[in-house]
Amino acid sequence: MNRRELFFKHLGQTSTAPLALEITRAEGCWLYGDAGKKWLDAIGGISVCNTGHRHPEVVHAIEEQAGRYLHLLVYGELVQSPQVDYATALIEKLPPSLDSVFFTNSGTEATEGAMKLAKRITGRMSVAAFEHSYHGSTQGALSIMGDEYWRNAFRPLLPGVAHLRYNRDDDLEQITEKTAAVFAETVQAENGVIKPRPAWMKLVRKRCDDTGALLILDEIQAGFGRTGKLWGFEEYEIVPDILMLGKALGGGLPLGAFISSKKRMDAFTENPVLGNISTFGGHPLSCAAGLASFRVLFKESLVTQVAEKEKRFRQALAHPHIKDVRSAGLLIAVEFESAETCKRIVDKCIRDGVLTDWFLFAPHCLRIAPPLTVSTEEIDRICEVVIRHL
Ligand code: PMP
Repeated sequence: MNRRELFFKHLGQTSTAPLALEITRAEGCWLYGDAGKKWLDAIGGISVCNTGHRHPEVVHAIEEQAGRYLHLLVYGELVQSPQVDYATALIEKLPPSLDSVFFTNSGTEATEGAMKLAKRITGRMSVAAFEHSYHGSTQGALSIMGDEYWRNAFRPLLPGVAHLRYNRDDDLEQITEKTAAVFAETVQAENGVIKPRPAWMKLVRKRCDDTGALLILDEIQAGFGRTGKLWGFEEYEIVPDILMLGKALGGGLPLGAFISSKKRMDAFTENPVLGNISTFGGHPLSCAAGLASFRVLFKESLVTQVAEKEKRFRQALAHPHIKDVRSAGLLIAVEFESAETCKRIVDKCIRDGVLTDWFLFAPHCLRIAPPLTVSTEEIDRICEVVIRHL
């Protein structure tokens, strides 16, 4: 059996039609396969590889840390310099009220931890989230996912979840004194890049303040410069009570986090003690890689280049056969008439050496979310290949 056959036979599958390309090496914005095959990565591992694949400084940090230690003990017991240094670096770039980082292994685990923290602090049992939102695939995160098709097969899920419409002022009345937390993405990524109206986002913040619900912003996909600001919430002049990070946080290694105030985070230390625990959360290799990648964002001024690059994509994608282009920096949805059209174009792009895909709740939209290091030539090439197949 060849490796491709073994992949289908021995790996748990997530769909009947995985891409099943075999990648042997990745560098910058490129993925390489056997026999000279290569793909320009237009989706950056789904908003993970913001500083490109295998950035030399990230690889160096991983090698250095691997020379010191790997796993030592469960999260939170020992002083591990990669965790402390990364948490400190993150906090330097966040508002003062977000000064305590809880590292997890993944985005969905950050969602679970943030939800537990909100319940623990407020003593309330209900949460609110938005339709067509995605916060992860574990059962708590699935309970707040904003789409019944994806939830339905896995009931029973958490009770007491209100699903509100995004960008709708009137629905915010459902946030009450019984609501522990409101989960919102600063940009609805999997809904095909839907940005909040600034006035609505401020209203969400105000409603949370008025009712005592905690505002939890999910920047797992929007963070780390993807939207053109370091943090997506900066655009809306609000500060969340809890911020969730993941994806690009680990510089290509698995890492998630939820960040709140020290006072709030301390609620996990008593009644019960060990209120949230994890063996591998904040793995030293992941934190070392993440910190190196975070530093590269500033050293190479990647965030400040996002708006220009976004503009170049938008100009190159202006075409009568494209229904709409929605973008939040380098998170771009190219909308077509139907999911079938989108799939046909995605398949042809991949055949012609550009890796792209669709969005979970918007299968009629093609995803463009390249590494922020993408060059103008690479942008032009991605757009040329998409346009070629319209
Ligand atoms: N929130 C958002 C906005 C996401 O895009 C994702 C992943 N697609 C998650 C949460 C879950 O992250 P993970 O897959 O690391 O669990």
